[in-house]
Amino acid sequence: MINRSRHFFYPGESVPEGQVRVTMLGTGTPFPRRGQAGTCMFVEAGEQKIFFDCGPGSSANFTSLGISFDLADKVILTHHHVDHIGDLGSFWVGGWTYGRRTPFRVWGPEGTEKIVEHHREIYEWDLSTRTPFLKNLRGKEIQAHDYEDGTIFDEGGVKVSAFKVTHTDPQNSYGLKLEAFGKKLIFSGDTKKCNALIDNAQNADVIIHEAFPPTEIYAEKSGRPLALARQVCEVLHTSPSEAGAVFAATQPKLGIIFHMYNNDDLIAPALDDVRKNYDGKVIIGQDLMVVDIGDEILVRKAVVDDKPWPVAPAGVKIGEN
Ligand SMILES: [Zn+2]
Ligand SMILES: [Zn+2]
Repeated sequence: MINRSRHFFYPGESVPEGQVRVTMLGTGTPFPRRGQAGTCMFVEAGEQKIFFDCGPGSSANFTSLGISFDLADKVILTHHHVDHIGDLGSFWVGGWTYGRRTPFRVWGPEGTEKIVEHHREIYEWDLSTRTPFLKNLRGKEIQAHDYEDGTIFDEGGVKVSAFKVTHTDPQNSYGLKLEAFGKKLIFSGDTKKCNALIDNAQNADVIIHEAFPPTEIYAEKSGRPLALARQVCEVLHTSPSEAGAVFAATQPKLGIIFHMYNNDDLIAPALDDVRKNYDGKVIIGQDLMVVDIGDEILVRKAVVDDKPWPVAPAGVKIGEN
């Protein structure tokens, strides 16, 4: 086994047995930023590798890890906002082009099957141009499953279930609970502080919860009127102090905040706001942060290549698989 750095994650290091690893491929919002991709959590547990959401820019962060697309064929969507689904086409078509040999599987709330059907139409020409050159035709398939509350996925000792959260009108947003090897991970998706999450997150090892910056700071930085900022930060989303209240009510080993404008000068005000309600361990998520969930929680920064080359599936060449 590779000697693990306690500070840096070097791609290629396998997930220790019995542990769950989350690599944050995107921690951002609908506002596209070069330094912060749209929301995407890459979860690895046993043989299972699953994306939770696939926001814009997240597929480039994925390839920077040097993992073959062949090993990444599942995404569970929490809801259909663009900052959570924008890279669906890149993962599906790009993943097939660069080595995935199995169908891309997509789960999501009601409407997901329709969105996937539209993707098939949008990329019909694209797929037809590649088909003569690619042998792995099962990889160009995409399968969609609409889910409701309850178990979505249960394979290889890894169980993922969904619970409805409170985000926008009309409501069609879910949080996700992953249970594997006695470990429990909660991903809020987008939500304001809600009891469904608190109920599901009891005894969780790690809770990844969304939060917007404190309202006044967001209004000032974004140039948006205070009333609109309040609507965004406090009605559609969770404030850092409310995220602190969620952590206080659930007591995870580690609380992680995402969906935050995580600029250096916002970290301290956001954490100050969290501390109004919670004094446990909490961090503000950054893209390419790697969290290993074992008996202890190890948080590291991935060391990656900004201009990676494709990684072929084991034992075959890309295009000959
Ligand atoms: Zn969002
Ligand atoms: Zn949203």
